[in-house]
Amino acid sequence: MSKIGIEAATVGTGRSYWHRNAAAPPPGNDRESSARETGATDRDAPPRADIVIVGGGLAGLSTALRIMERQPDADVVILDAHFPGYGASGRNGGLMSPLAAPAWLVTAASNPDHAWGLKAINARTAAAAEWARAMAPDAEVQPAELALEATGRLTDCGLREVARGVDAAGISYDLAAGRKRGDVAAMHIAAHSVHPYKLVAGLAGAATGAGVRIVSNAAVSRIDDEGAAGARIHLAGGSVIQARSVVVATNAYTPSLQLAKAPRAKAVYNYMLATAPIDPDRLEAAIGPKGFVVELNYAYAFWRIHEGRIVYGGLERLKPVPDDRDLFVPVKVARALERHLAATLGTEAELPQITDHWGGKYHVTATDLPVIRREPGSAIVLNVGYGGEGVALTMALAPLAAALALGKAPPEAELGRLASIIAETRVPVAGMARFVARVAADVVKSTIRGRPSRPAHQH
Ligand SMILES: Cc1cc2nc3c(=O)[nH]c(=O)nc-3n(C[C@H](O)[C@H](O)[C@H](O)COP(=O)(O)OP(=O)(O)OC[C@H]3O[C@@H](n4cnc5c(N)ncnc54)[C@H](O)[C@@H]3O)c2cc1C
Repeated sequence: MSKIGIEAATVGTGRSYWHRNAAAPPPGNDRESSARETGATDRDAPPRADIVIVGGGLAGLSTALRIMERQPDADVVILDAHFPGYGASGRNGGLMSPLAAPAWLVTAASNPDHAWGLKAINARTAAAAEWARAMAPDAEVQPAELALEATGRLTDCGLREVARGVDAAGISYDLAAGRKRGDVAAMHIAAHSVHPYKLVAGLAGAATGAGVRIVSNAAVSRIDDEGAAGARIHLAGGSVIQARSVVVATNAYTPSLQLAKAPRAKAVYNYMLATAPIDPDRLEAAIGPKGFVVELNYAYAFWRIHEGRIVYGGLERLKPVPDDRDLFVPVKVARALERHLAATLGTEAELPQITDHWGGKYHVTATDLPVIRREPGSAIVLNVGYGGEGVALTMALAPLAAALALGKAPPEAELGRLASIIAETRVPVAGMARFVARVAADVVKSTIRGRPSRPAHQH
């Protein structure tokens, strides 16, 4: 064990399956290799820019593109400590969730603003998928049904309560018998999936094409907020950049920056693996139709198929991992993930060959909603805390972060309303208590009846 309690033994290659799968750098993104090969440093960063974006993940890239759409002559620079897509954006499962504001699921039935917000984000996510397809044609943006699968009586009752929130929002879904256990439900909802790293690469290419400068290997160590005079961005290598405004899009790495006012969010670690290609018949028999499956169990396992392989993830942990090791997976976690995969495939199934293990971290706020904020008089825009929903949310809400960076109003009144509801949402203590009480009552009723309390249905 190391000093901060990390298992010393880890598995992985320091790249995600997606990084490796897109090995021939997709058009517009040779930054990973070129930054490594040329030893580019932060000295390549310009001394000044209109808007500096710190972090080249989905949040930073989509904000840059939305700024250029709104003001095509804007002078925008993205600085990344590693390369675009190094962080969670190049490592995730690739689901664009249709329910990307989970906190509102427990309150939507009693709070019309939250019901409206759920639906508005659902519609904006669908629009963001079309936008991503246009910006990044090679990113494999495609429809993929999301299946939320209960795994026992408790999660079955919980799922039926979630359905009340989805009903209140007016989002279509289908509640059917589960894939493995017919006595518990699965909720099916229209969604999209992407190839995460190809999406990053496509957006990076589009941003460069629109005139954004992207500098890799440029770690920011401190940002001085000078209010109306702008901000001074200090790079670890000693350079300083003066900007009119700066967008912080550093996700769970934000503590690596010195900021006068840090956002309140914590880092959650998540782990994934990919198998070798599996015989299509065996794949079909073991896991059924294609799509994106989330199993409602303590591991919160999720999986999808990519090029005949199972890409499987889950097991949230709060234990800190050093930033330079966060692509690796502690051996114990890797073995636990493999056990979950075996259970998903059926205990009799022989575990397929595993080719990749990787980890990553994301930034979670107490409400599970992002922080997209610019304090009055400040030159700093915070654009962080997208949690496990960042693929959908970063792109759906980028026009908001772009407006704040430009010092303009949101492009539509609806987006302004969404921003207010997000900012005003508090931890739903009462909503959560009501939710738990209803789930408990449902569990009791269904136990007495010996079956789920309501039949499967369509909405
Ligand atoms: C294993 C895993 C699976 C996930 N699955 C899903 C999923 O299926 N669907 C979903 O919606 N979400 C998922 N997520 C969450 C999603 O990936 C994130 O919410 C999203 O990618 C966040 O994007 P971002 O741009 O905010 O952060 P990141 O992609 O982490 O980007 C931050 C960038 O900032 C750079 N940086 C950090 N510090 C500095 C610094 N000091 N100076 C300069 N640059 C810096 C980093 O190098 C990095 O490139 C998953 C996350 C993980 C880890």
